[in-house]
Amino acid sequence: MTNALIFGITGQDGTYLADFLLKKGYTVFGTYRRTSHKAFERLEAFDILSNVNLIRADLHDHVSISRAIKQSKPDEIYNLAAQSFVAASFEQPLYTSDITGVGALRIFEEARDLCPKSKIYQASSSEMFGNSNETKNENSRLSPMSPYGIAKVYAHKSAQFYREAYGMSISSGILFNHESPFRGLEFVTRKITSSIALIKQNKLQKIHLGNINAKRDWGFAGDYVKAMWLMLQKEKSDDYVIATGKSYSVIEFLERAFKIAELGDWKNYVEIDEKCMRPKDIEFLLGDSSKARSELGWTPTVSFDNLVSLMVEKDLEF
Ligand code: NDP
Ligand code: GDP
Repeated sequence: MTNALIFGITGQDGTYLADFLLKKGYTVFGTYRRTSHKAFERLEAFDILSNVNLIRADLHDHVSISRAIKQSKPDEIYNLAAQSFVAASFEQPLYTSDITGVGALRIFEEARDLCPKSKIYQASSSEMFGNSNETKNENSRLSPMSPYGIAKVYAHKSAQFYREAYGMSISSGILFNHESPFRGLEFVTRKITSSIALIKQNKLQKIHLGNINAKRDWGFAGDYVKAMWLMLQKEKSDDYVIATGKSYSVIEFLERAFKIAELGDWKNYVEIDEKCMRPKDIEFLLGDSSKARSELGWTPTVSFDNLVSLMVEKDLEF
């Protein structure tokens, strides 16, 4: 039996990963935070809530991290926990640094003492690259443009340092944006598809959006969690870019989503709102995942068109 500990099991990726690992026969442990509301919606939707072992922990609190490791005795640790919303990081840069950046270091430090042989996955991000028109790979310059991106660079560099200085097996997946019907409601893709559902029910007239010219390399979360697992099956830990290799604008997402929903011209439903603009934004992201494709045998299986359909159709079910 292999034990996996997922920090951030309640999130989009945590749920897809837990489901994937359970199907592989793992014993899955996952951390959650106490909240005053329901935190297990995604695990319930996947019907796996009773199959995972939940442990209360917060990345701010290193004692809770240590207890989670002691309780789960993990062969593999996945650090997916983060303040993961770029826009919020401009409003709460200190909190974001503490959770998304130093939080990863807390896990590495506890693992160094308690389970130095465990394999660790760190959720790095394309947001670390910042703005440029080039396709990004593992050697591209890191030039983050948000407190979130800066925190991810800190965690990414710490992972490399722990690998080199202490011989720990920590792999970082530099994942480009990945979405699903279980993406958080504030991210632009899900904001659009969930708003379309409300428009269809006459509960919303307009979607307020910011920089709709921005382009992202959008993939499907289900494909991306498989890449995380593949990284940890390698003898040697390393960094891997995970991306589809195709970039589309928010406008293209709107066009496709409104077409599927048969609502006519998206321009009739969208208002550009200054409040949705960021102090700085990345205009263009495109990833080159050739290393993951050749060394891990990983390939994305869901196209942009199919991803948009999947999300719109799921939101329209409600
Ligand atoms: P989500 O926001 O859906 O999930 C984040 C998880 O982190 C949730 O389980 C959340 O718990 C947990 N969390 C938040 N704050 C804390 C804290 N203080 N202590 C412990 N846990 C905490 O993100 P995704 O699943 O989309 O992403 C997973 C990881 O991958 C994140 O690190 C993200 O930054 C990174 N990433 C994501 C990309 C994407 O496109 N999805 C792209 C590149 C990187 P709760 O449910 O209580 O909020
Ligand atoms: P990110 O790439 O991790 O920041 O993912 P998001 O889904 O939050 O944003 C993707 C892009 O969509 C960014 O360039 C945003 O500026 C842009 N965008 C435009 N309007 C909105 C909006 O209303 N909400 C969000 N979240 N993003 C928006």
